[in-house]
Amino acid sequence: MSSLKERIKNKERIILDGGMGSQLINYPEYTGKDPSLLNITHPEIITAVHKSYVDAGSELIIINTFDVNPKRYENYAEIIAAAVSNARAAGAPYVGLDIGPIGELMYPMGLLKPEDAYGYFEAVVKEGVKCGVDFIIIETMIDQNEMKEALCAAKNNSSLPVIVSCAYGKRGRLMTTGGRPEDVAAIAEEFGADAVGVNCSFGPDLMLPVVEAYAAATSLPIWAKPNAGMPQVVDGKPVYNIGVEDFKEYMKKIEAAGATLIGGCCGTNPSYIEAIK
Ligand SMILES: [Zn+2]
Repeated sequence: MSSLKERIKNKERIILDGGMGSQLINYPEYTGKDPSLLNITHPEIITAVHKSYVDAGSELIIINTFDVNPKRYENYAEIIAAAVSNARAAGAPYVGLDIGPIGELMYPMGLLKPEDAYGYFEAVVKEGVKCGVDFIIIETMIDQNEMKEALCAAKNNSSLPVIVSCAYGKRGRLMTTGGRPEDVAAIAEEFGADAVGVNCSFGPDLMLPVVEAYAAATSLPIWAKPNAGMPQVVDGKPVYNIGVEDFKEYMKKIEAAGATLIGGCCGTNPSYIEAIK
């Protein structure tokens, strides 16, 4: 059997999971704060969400550690270990370490030094590797330079498949730096990512031009995890306007444009994954 790294490289069609946060709001135990701590306080909830995606056909399951880093959580190692075991308990075929932005803008837009960002990412990567994850996904990045620090930390401390994925604004540019998909693809290639991706922000309709731009700029495999549309706030809660059938049709276009690693982000649930599967 070929390794996950080879399957990604060969551009095999692989089904990812869907939104985590937008599933957690269905549980009264979740207050809306610090979703990562649920890995420890309510492991059964996290495992249930993962399992719902495994049952729907997701092969790649991303652990619930989006905002986990040593800057934000002193007990980051404990959270990562719990998150990995929750995904394993769900029977995930492949478990991915989830790395999001540090949560503070990096120099020159903000005060976070690149070497400090690298250090935080490195600590997270080392812990994930220690816990035996199968791949690393660096996602929802809005600054390609911060993405680069995370990518280098992942490559320098593991031999796992590493995917980088950015969240773009409506006009297809990164919201902090104005970076274009081709800039992101160039960094992904230069620093050894196994795939380049786009996730969150908007639905598969607005995501299509980003996937097309990646396909024109790079031969790297492409990862696409759109929201179920642009969120509208109704009664204080986000509402997503793209239903399962429309999502499925849009995802066919995303695949035709070159994406092979496909799933959903905010507002999607297991029925979306089942539909694209
Ligand atoms: Zn999202």
